[in-house]
Amino acid sequence: MKLPAFMQPRILKQAVQATFSPAFTTRFPAEPFEPQESFRGRPRFNADGCVGCGACAEVCPPKCIEVIDDAQASPPRRILVQHLDACIVCGQCERYCPTQDGIHMSREWDFAGFAPEDFEERVEKELVMCEVCGEVLAPADQLRWLAERLGPMSFANPTLSMFAGQRLGYVEQGVQNPSETVLRADRMAIQCPKCKRKTARAA
Ligand code: SF4
Ligand code: SF4
Repeated sequence: MKLPAFMQPRILKQAVQATFSPAFTTRFPAEPFEPQESFRGRPRFNADGCVGCGACAEVCPPKCIEVIDDAQASPPRRILVQHLDACIVCGQCERYCPTQDGIHMSREWDFAGFAPEDFEERVEKELVMCEVCGEVLAPADQLRWLAERLGPMSFANPTLSMFAGQRLGYVEQGVQNPSETVLRADRMAIQCPKCKRKTARAA
């Protein structure tokens, strides 16, 4: 006669083993839960490692990183806002961050919050403006980071050279052309790529 399933020796053995084995489930929320080392949780900015370039916003699939340039502030500034409520925790921002230290995927997995601020993270950077047209050029930290990577070669670039000169105090300001016409002399100024092309062609 065929025994019922719960009386079969194999099933009985498994039942006894399971009774005396430790639980496989976690005790959360009675005890804190620690995810494994490779767990990809909430992305967090590292203000010291971030240069404000905005590359993370470009590669973010759901576009949940906002880049706000406030040219009217004194000094002008760039604010990067990460909206966690739209984040899909894909890790692309960390992967493509040029400094590899501006944003990291933490192991935070509990995203619950009560206020909109609980789902936002910000980092602010001082902006450098083009001395020729007055438009946004780049964050100061990004220019510094570029100059460090290029080393002495950065002095071949008028913008990086003038920027370094101003920070070191041996240049007060780049050549300022008061007229509408762009001059060749404007090349010796901190300038955006658009003005760089214009001043290269100017007489
Ligand atoms: S440095 Fe990295 S984290 Fe900062 S804005 Fe650029 S890509 Fe984003
Ligand atoms: S983890 Fe993905 S979705 Fe979230 S901010 Fe980074 S790139 Fe955007």
